Amino acid sequence: MPETPTTTRQPRVYTWSPQTWGPHHIPVPFAASWSGEHPDNDQLHVRTDHKGVPGLAFRDERPEDRDRHGVLWARMSWAPGTGKPQFAQMHPLRQRDAMLLKLCQVCGKPADRTREGWLFLEARGPHTAGLPDPGDPYQGFTPKPPVCSGCAILAARMCPHLGDPIAFRSRKPLIAGVFGGLYLPNRNGRVLALPKDDHLYYGRTNATRWFLASQLITELTKCTPATL
Ligand SMILES: [Zn+2]
Repeated sequence: MPETPTTTRQPRVYTWSPQTWGPHHIPVPFAASWSGEHPDNDQLHVRTDHKGVPGLAFRDERPEDRDRHGVLWARMSWAPGTGKPQFAQMHPLRQRDAMLLKLCQVCGKPADRTREGWLFLEARGPHTAGLPDPGDPYQGFTPKPPVCSGCAILAARMCPHLGDPIAFRSRKPLIAGVFGGLYLPNRNGRVLALPKDDHLYYGRTNATRWFLASQLITELTKCTPATL
């Protein structure tokens, strides 16, 4: 059983044992959530700051609930290995840490890095072709943390949603913003979640105080193709 991080503040220190699932011991990504882990956002409410400006907050908010840009982060219980793996749903805290600390999104160990940069894997699709800078064909925004070379080979073979994946290295992955949802003030200090998920890019919006983040978005720049 993986251990809980020693502290919930950055930087966290992990003692992580790679997880598998089922009779075929399918690797369960470090960043994936488990059915035994539950969102814990009941304490959301409207709080007015010292300047009289209202915004989203937790009633029992702790400093680690916000990132350095002041964005509030969704809470989720920590129980990897409990229940079934939710391959399509990432755990906010582990996804964020994998991005910030450049951990492999599959095994949780340091991601592969060479002079050409950190290794990333993406499903081939419209977002990997025809991107803005023709000299930098893999540039783009992603919520998927980097990988180590061993897990990249394994994921390319075992992850059905990756199809025919594209591997590349980014010398300059820039933390660009967050994925999550906007809230509106409701009655009696309560808040109402908008039904559609959205992106929020740091420094480009004034919606920060009404946003609840669940994934960190990285802009991949200075990219080159990689072979696995
Ligand atoms: Zn790995």
